[in-house]
Amino acid sequence: MKETVCRCENVVKMDVHDPIDLDKNIDMLEFIANGNMPGSKCEACGSYVWAPLPLGFTAKSKGLNFVVLPEEERISVYMGKNTKPNEVLLGYQELFERARIIRDGLDPLVLELMKYALEAKAAENSDSDEIRAIYNGMSDKGLVFHIIGIKADESAVIILPKTSYESSLANMHKNQDKEPYRSLKKGNYHSIKKLDFSENGE
Ligand SMILES: [Zn+2]
Repeated sequence: MKETVCRCENVVKMDVHDPIDLDKNIDMLEFIANGNMPGSKCEACGSYVWAPLPLGFTAKSKGLNFVVLPEEERISVYMGKNTKPNEVLLGYQELFERARIIRDGLDPLVLELMKYALEAKAAENSDSDEIRAIYNGMSDKGLVFHIIGIKADESAVIILPKTSYESSLANMHKNQDKEPYRSLKKGNYHSIKKLDFSENGE
């Protein structure tokens, strides 16, 4: 049972277990991959309220055990101040993306490295330092990424063939001790977002 405060200030109690066992909730992965969250309807105002973070997820069959922390904890995670033993994700968007990666049977670390290359490429033609690549799922042609932040209110779609994923995977195994692989793997938060933080020297 989780509870949270609705925008209307009513306290909403919801029948959501923590951690959520994805082996027992077969449909949950697809539900979350599509950008939805388990939650409950607010009895006072009728809006649907998402389960609050932190929220853990497990799936023994897939070797999964991670916890999603709220965005507010981002800086303290970057600074190594979180002491969670499990892998950590930050915010709902990272959870949605991870659900798509798990659903599609891909390695999250390889996806981070592909995104790293895409963001670097997009940055060559842009003054923005807020460029983000997000994995959006698999199509007939390959892995679909959305590139956001190149210009305000504009996003681009880039599709990379599955062979590109496979070569990134092989590359990762060969370059375990090199950057950015090494920094990415360090600690229990593995998003390329943390690399900006250390590059900026903050
Ligand atoms: Zn409400």
